[in-house]
Amino acid sequence: MFAEVAFPIRSFQTFTYSIPKEYLHSINIGSRVIVPLRNKTIQGVVVDVNNSISYSGNIKEIIEPVDNILIFTPLLWKLIHWVGKYYMVPIGKVANTVIPKSISKNYRLPKQKFVLLKQKIDSEILKDLKTRAPKQYAVYEILCSQDSIKDIASLKDIVKNPMQVCLALQKRGLIDIIEKDKIPDVNKFSFEPIHKKVIFNIDQQKVIDQIILSLNRYCYEPFLLHGVTGSGKTEIYIESVKICLEQNRTAIVLLPEIALTPQIAGRFRAVFGDAVAVWHSKLTQQQRSWTWTKICSGEYKIVIGARSAVFSPLKNIGLIIVDEEQESSFYQDAKDPRYHARDVAVMRGTLEKSVVIVASATPSLESYYNYQQKKFQYLYLPKRFGNAKYPTVHIVNMLSIVEETGKYGQVVSGLLQDKIEERINNNEQIILLQNRRGFSPIIKCNECGEVLMCNQCKIALTYHKNEDKLICHFCSYVFSGTLIRCIKCKNNKLKYFGTGTQKVESLIKQTFPSARVKRLDMDTSKSSNDITTLLKSFSNHEFDILIGTQMVAKGLDFPNATLVGIINADLGLHLPDFRASEKVFQLLYQASGRSGRSQKPGEVVIQTYSPDNIVINNAKKLNISKFYHTTLNEREELNYPPYSWLAKIEVIGSNRIDLISLMDRIAFNIIGKFEGLEVLGPSPCFLEKLKNKFRYQIVFKSKKILDPNGAKLHFFIKENFYNAKKKFNLKQNKLNIYFDPMSLI
Ligand code: ADP
Ligand code: ZN
Repeated sequence: MFAEVAFPIRSFQTFTYSIPKEYLHSINIGSRVIVPLRNKTIQGVVVDVNNSISYSGNIKEIIEPVDNILIFTPLLWKLIHWVGKYYMVPIGKVANTVIPKSISKNYRLPKQKFVLLKQKIDSEILKDLKTRAPKQYAVYEILCSQDSIKDIASLKDIVKNPMQVCLALQKRGLIDIIEKDKIPDVNKFSFEPIHKKVIFNIDQQKVIDQIILSLNRYCYEPFLLHGVTGSGKTEIYIESVKICLEQNRTAIVLLPEIALTPQIAGRFRAVFGDAVAVWHSKLTQQQRSWTWTKICSGEYKIVIGARSAVFSPLKNIGLIIVDEEQESSFYQDAKDPRYHARDVAVMRGTLEKSVVIVASATPSLESYYNYQQKKFQYLYLPKRFGNAKYPTVHIVNMLSIVEETGKYGQVVSGLLQDKIEERINNNEQIILLQNRRGFSPIIKCNECGEVLMCNQCKIALTYHKNEDKLICHFCSYVFSGTLIRCIKCKNNKLKYFGTGTQKVESLIKQTFPSARVKRLDMDTSKSSNDITTLLKSFSNHEFDILIGTQMVAKGLDFPNATLVGIINADLGLHLPDFRASEKVFQLLYQASGRSGRSQKPGEVVIQTYSPDNIVINNAKKLNISKFYHTTLNEREELNYPPYSWLAKIEVIGSNRIDLISLMDRIAFNIIGKFEGLEVLGPSPCFLEKLKNKFRYQIVFKSKKILDPNGAKLHFFIKENFYNAKKKFNLKQNKLNIYFDPMSLI
């Protein structure tokens, strides 16, 4: 028997190996294997198994399989295949990003030493121990009075050198020291289970009934669940998963934001206990491997997590839910495979014959269009649950404040200040959104106009006051210290413009000295523990005002938060991207949705310099259908998705002149253009220089009416770019392909 093996490399080539007799049964499609390649041994994935081959050269043998359990399911393998094909990424590379790196036959849990009480001694000897060896006595006491078994490291709070003390106790025959597997603590990423009595209202029941009907058909059925914020979508997910588990099937729930995981996981754990696994990018390799193997062995039935959870090795999946499906974080755009987790979820549902629910308060225009085209069934929850009302929204025209005060840059308007005070006096909580971290995002010389930029990127440096550093938010380049003079004209007229979360925090603390204020952004949430702790503490009303970036805007449910303030609603509004207004609308709508989710009525204050802008106005009225109507018309006119298929080629290189001539050569040599295809570029990317590399792009749009399933565009991109490295002699330049990109900047 022969195996075709793929490697995690850029090339699409596979290599043939023979399968040794002893492994005939253990090596299948999807097995990971160790093989010789040139003078090395490396790891690859079997993509095909054949009885015979046509190749007549020297065929090497597979050395050994990597895993002793099957770490893929056959259907997951099919999915990986599809991702490789659809997004044009070598399959070995897809497999490599999907499976945790440290999983292998040699994977062992690390060991942990425990101390175990062996015998109790009478009070005389105990007294003696107390005077002669007080440290040993202290440890012994703990073992007698609390648990009789304890992790030795945890005794550090009692004695400085617990190991030494325990060894001495062992010598006395009082205790035993044993070694056990150290099981990663994966439950700390969730809130304590929140038990709740749920009785569905009529709208909710209708939705549930439809989902049950579909689950009972055991086939692929996709839904768009459109439910306003606070309408009970999460309760619907829980109920649907319950039914799916009763059918002896499993479920995946995809969330767009790591900050959302702890609360939602807590709600699921209240119902499903230890059957719930959490999966996201902040897990350590250890936690990843542990979780993956437990999913394979069937102990976890539900996986909740970020986009890569779509590849969990669950068997027999009955239900896949994509919460806040419009979010661009579902698209992995920084590295291969560049994929959209929502679309992969739909494909996985097709393969697994499961029900797929893409859900949102603000569905993407693509999903909305899919519903109009009858590709998705539509489920609607028009009202908030119970007595919760939609919040009252106030718009503050920051321009008129400029006129009144003659000053730009006021951060918190009088109205927002008053409202904050009111809510604090009522003992209620407040969320403030500023979608930019740091203190000041622009440092400009008032004399010559020079803006301080990153050395390596064409991006302005942001001032971080807490750390007293200027930081590039793309490459993390750091300029330490407060800059006093302009680097160009040496004048000391530098001004710090703009507002980041740190500035908002510092102003709010000054204005409301007795309020308890905390900030959640990428700088304060290095680990998932930080996020969980902070959100738990807000949930328990241990502080009053939560300030943050988009991390605080979505999906969270804090019944006592009754005021949401949006410091600058215009951020992102004027970016040159076809999705700019959709994103701003969704963010404002979502953020507003965090307010007044329970009995207490909520309010939202939106501060803007563009009060007449149609996006801001629709967000103010929370008018979703009007927003869809205008935006869909605009997209159709300009031939953007959902009316066209989109692909983007991005080329990155260090030498700008070479890159420009390469781009011209590529553009000149493009073959197979077809009716309905539009080519934009080559042109420099919006972020033209990042990490000392220049970036250019070509965008391709293919009209959907002439290319209904995108096959023409797909074939075209494959013809032109499948073998780009050789074909265009890319040398050191890198070419990335994006299908269905979320943005063109
Ligand atoms: P969404 O996910 O649509 O924003 P949630 O599921 O978070 O909405 O619901 C908002 C709040 O209302 C939550 O606290 C939720 O537990 C509660 N809720 C929703 N539906 C019910 C119900 N049928 N019975 C009890 N509580 C409910
Ligand atoms: Zn930089």
